[in-house]
Amino acid sequence: MTAPTQSSVLSPQSSAYEAVIGLECHVQLATNSKMFCGCPTVYSGAAPNTHVCPICLGMPGVLPVINRKAVEYTLLTGLALNSEIPEATKFDRKNYPYPDLVKGYQISQYDMPLVKGGWFEITVGAITRRIRLERVHLEEDTGKLTHIAGGSLVDFNRSGVPLMEMVSQPDLRTPAETHAYLLTLRAILRTLGVSDADMEKGQLRCDVNVSMRPVGQEELGTKVEVKNLNSFRAVQRSLEFEIARQTEALERGERIPQETRGWVEERGVTVTQRSKEEAHDYRYFPEPDLPPLFIERAWIDELRARLPELPDARRVRYMQSFGLSAYDAAALSTDQSAAQLFEDTVNAGADPKKAANWIQNDVSRLHDGHVPTAQHLAELIGMVDQGVIGITAARQVLTEVSSTGRGPRELVDELGLAQVSDSSALEEAARAVIDANPAAVADYKSGKLTAINRLKGELMKATRGKANPAVAEELLHKLLD
Ligand SMILES: [Zn+2]
Repeated sequence: MTAPTQSSVLSPQSSAYEAVIGLECHVQLATNSKMFCGCPTVYSGAAPNTHVCPICLGMPGVLPVINRKAVEYTLLTGLALNSEIPEATKFDRKNYPYPDLVKGYQISQYDMPLVKGGWFEITVGAITRRIRLERVHLEEDTGKLTHIAGGSLVDFNRSGVPLMEMVSQPDLRTPAETHAYLLTLRAILRTLGVSDADMEKGQLRCDVNVSMRPVGQEELGTKVEVKNLNSFRAVQRSLEFEIARQTEALERGERIPQETRGWVEERGVTVTQRSKEEAHDYRYFPEPDLPPLFIERAWIDELRARLPELPDARRVRYMQSFGLSAYDAAALSTDQSAAQLFEDTVNAGADPKKAANWIQNDVSRLHDGHVPTAQHLAELIGMVDQGVIGITAARQVLTEVSSTGRGPRELVDELGLAQVSDSSALEEAARAVIDANPAAVADYKSGKLTAINRLKGELMKATRGKANPAVAEELLHKLLD
């Protein structure tokens, strides 16, 4: 079997096996301070080991203090995901030796997580499926190792940043569903304001579990875990690789060993790292320096009342109130900034379907950080509607508006892009085009009416795209008939 395309993996006919996929996502919470100390959480660009204190450096004799905001953010997430919030919870020590873990243990949660169960819906194409969660718990991030020639460097600025671990049930079946899961999850986290969940910045990191089983079989196959995936692309590619690798092995009659594998980006392969640890390898025990936590029901009620409109509700509203297609509504509602621009542009008077199109196509292709204001975008869409400018000119104006921040009307005047809709102004150019293209004219006169398109193309070229195409065509017909 050669490297599969996505569709061959997804197609049940091409394989007697189906994939069973589960995700563990680590999400850095957007609190001001770390999980158990007062150090700042924003370390991007800071010199190594400058955002540290005796607590997050694991010095003996210090005591951790629970960050209330991190607990609140985790509870909010649980409420948004239809989860159960148990009344009692506690922290545990997860013991393992690793150079980026200063204390030799990580404060995490073992058998009493803050959040249990839950679900959310994902949409792939026209199909919406409910994906269940197993749990969401709170822990602390580790330091960061950088490997150099001759050794490794460690930076503890990240050590102790609040980390929310979200474990899904193995309900996903394809790389496309896994992608939709991550996009939807990111949208929910951003909407709640609990994390920026930017994978490129390491704020959202994933481990995927994948096993294969014969189609129709209930029992799960042996799962392989692929660790530390830091981009949407790495998740997608590593899954495609694992599905192909495991399918081939099973078809050869081999057994899949349970193991942890790593993704090697440059080679596009996963490689064995170690056999999978069991929970007892970590010697979990209750964290003696922290009291158990009891979550008051009144706090839960207060947080529930604060929940914003979530992406799924937004998707349904976009379809019902604005008449968007399921595809457009799903795409916009899972992108917080696009959704905001869309709503503002509609509020500024633009047609919703046209605004959705512009935002998903032309605006999304603009360079990073250069996005038009809703007011300018609505104005530009209006100018196209009114025939003031053509679509090609509008795209040019959009780029200018976005990079300069100047208004579209001013730019259209300055760049001389206004469309010519006055047929008397086009007549001279139209006559010249007719004189210069006798073959097309002869075709037209002999009954090949589509020859008008060639003449119209020439006229558009002669006016450098400024002729209103409808007016140009009508004028040519008038002059020829
Ligand atoms: Zn600290």
